[in-house]
Amino acid sequence: QCPWGAPSTTSISCSLADVMSEQLAKELQLEEENAAFPEVVAAAEGPFITGENIDTSSDLMLAQMLQMEFDREYDAQLRREEKKINGDSKVSISFENYRKVHPYDSDSSEDEVDWQDTRHDPYRADKPTTTPRRGFIGKGKDITTKHDEVVCGRKNTARMENFAPEFQVGDGIGMDLKLSNQVFNALKQHAYSEERRSARLHEKKEHSTAEKAVDPKTRLLLYKMVNSGMLETITGCISTGKESVVFHAYGGNSATEDKVIPPECAIKVFKTTLNEFKNRDKYIKDDYRFKDRFSKLNPRKIIRMWAEKEMHNLTRMQNAGIPCPQVVILKKHVLVMSFIGQDQVPAPKLKDVTLSSEDMKKAYYQILNMMQQLYRECNLVHADLSEYNMLWHDGKVWLIDVSQSVEPTHPHGLEFLFRDCRNVSQFFQKGGVAEALNERELFNAVSGLNITADNEVDFQAEIEALEKMNEDHVQNHGKKLSTFSSDGDPPIYDE
Ligand code: ADP
Ligand code: MN
Repeated sequence: QCPWGAPSTTSISCSLADVMSEQLAKELQLEEENAAFPEVVAAAEGPFITGENIDTSSDLMLAQMLQMEFDREYDAQLRREEKKINGDSKVSISFENYRKVHPYDSDSSEDEVDWQDTRHDPYRADKPTTTPRRGFIGKGKDITTKHDEVVCGRKNTARMENFAPEFQVGDGIGMDLKLSNQVFNALKQHAYSEERRSARLHEKKEHSTAEKAVDPKTRLLLYKMVNSGMLETITGCISTGKESVVFHAYGGNSATEDKVIPPECAIKVFKTTLNEFKNRDKYIKDDYRFKDRFSKLNPRKIIRMWAEKEMHNLTRMQNAGIPCPQVVILKKHVLVMSFIGQDQVPAPKLKDVTLSSEDMKKAYYQILNMMQQLYRECNLVHADLSEYNMLWHDGKVWLIDVSQSVEPTHPHGLEFLFRDCRNVSQFFQKGGVAEALNERELFNAVSGLNITADNEVDFQAEIEALEKMNEDHVQNHGKKLSTFSSDGDPPIYDE
């Protein structure tokens, strides 16, 4: 059983012709990749991070790992010396300032801003040498114009320095080499096309690592988790989504953390390709829990906040006893939680599993219950609830994927809840559960509100009116209602 293989439950039936062509496409793709980056492909075999077997395909990462080990040893030695010097003395000397601490260990790392660096353009000469406006220098018969062959040749040679650094121009610059315009232009053309070619290659490589979700920085983070003994092995990828990639790992037995690590873990890596998150702004920007922080943050930090949000939401759910993954640890944009499934096989999504009508009914009532608990005890709305984010495991439904969950008083909280209700209703009505409430009934049952509109449009309008009332309250009183109420009573305020 290959850990990289797709989970067996997601088999999709299609025609032979489709399979053939897909296979062909895959083969061609593989061939191409093999030719371009043999080492990357080779590294993808087997568990990609274990204690012994470290992926050595990236020199940079290897160097960083070594540096990290070195820094750690150095700091340990420093601490020993500090202790020796200080002894029992009442006045002690601190060596704190001499500590190395690998940059990846400290959370204030400057890597947070690198994305917005105004990039210095290495190809542009710092001070361009200009030809005088009048186009000539000197007087009388010593006059030289910009068309002078010698001057021009020298200038052309100098301009070669402006080609990309990888472009080998030799050391002709020190030899008073003179290039004719024709030669120079041909060289320039060549240099630019080379530059583009290497950019393309580079792009491809970036893409191929992004597909496995782990840029070197994330890998280093994962490596640290294995190195510290918290994880035993990271076996492979379970899911690649638009916003996250999920890996399976076997838990280790960390000595430092006094937490019990589950035997199998899921690692959710929130993607740091920033643009994917833009459309999710509305979930977090209006969430007052994150309000103060949002405006000051750069996108990288916002992505970490998604991970943080998922952690907090999972913890609330755990406390309410809702079946969901248990949080193990959060490091930057990487969230480790317990694995729902067994022996590397993730539990199937509700959309992929065929349940008996009895189980279907059971699942429905369980979800109704969970939605109520989520709303009342956790003060949360899932906001992406559907058969895609519910797993069937151990004879019950487990909720996952709660990074976008919000509190009901979020400016769009009730709309999100209504959407969740619609998904759940439709799924179970189609699935033949006769008892399943319709979306409006379900909404009322979950929220405890009593919206009486009997059609979708009016219902939606009432929901929006409630949301607006809440927002107005925030405007006037500087705080939110703690709960909604639509049955004529004054809203309950949180004092
Ligand atoms: P996304 O935002 O990409 O949808 P999810 O949290 O839904 O992220 O995770 C994607 C997939 O990974 C899920 O559909 C599920 O199959 C799998 N998965 C996520 N978390 C776990 C977990 N704790 N245990 C088992 N499988 C998981
Ligand atoms: Mn999901």
